[in-house]
Amino acid sequence: MAKEEPPPRQQTGRIKDARGRSVRELDPVVMHLMHRPGIIPQDTLGDIAKDIGFGTTKGVRIAFWGWIVCLVCLVIALAILLTRLANGAITTRRFIVSLVPYCGIWTSFFGFWIGARNNRHKRIGSIMLKYLRCPHCGYDIRGLPVDPSDGATVCPECGCAWRLGD
Ligand SMILES: [Zn+2]
Repeated sequence: MAKEEPPPRQQTGRIKDARGRSVRELDPVVMHLMHRPGIIPQDTLGDIAKDIGFGTTKGVRIAFWGWIVCLVCLVIALAILLTRLANGAITTRRFIVSLVPYCGIWTSFFGFWIGARNNRHKRIGSIMLKYLRCPHCGYDIRGLPVDPSDGATVCPECGCAWRLGD
């Protein structure tokens, strides 16, 4: 692991390195906005952040707000159905059947949101590698030898292995 881990605010989701090790990756956009470049030169960090893009993508926003709206609808439906169930107006079976569509849509939006977030994490990793920076610690990995057994370049700072062609 890195000798000095970046603060959690400067890290985003987890990605797997070329050898399947799950590690947290840096968030170059947050580091750039906080003016905390760490070991990445400020100019390079600015270029990386611009490539990633500021703010969230349209897909993430739609999935997130869809999930929130479905959650509110689910809570309202649950309150109405529980009241009707308590009054004996509906059976337990009818109560469960009525909730299934809400739960299905809510789960779908939640899945879209998680998928969109994971795509962003993968994108950050590939852009960091494009700039020859270790996605986990930001170390400059240009010119390092490639392990012939798996074609991965090992970061000397944190030990993560990356395929630079990825
Ligand atoms: Zn590293």
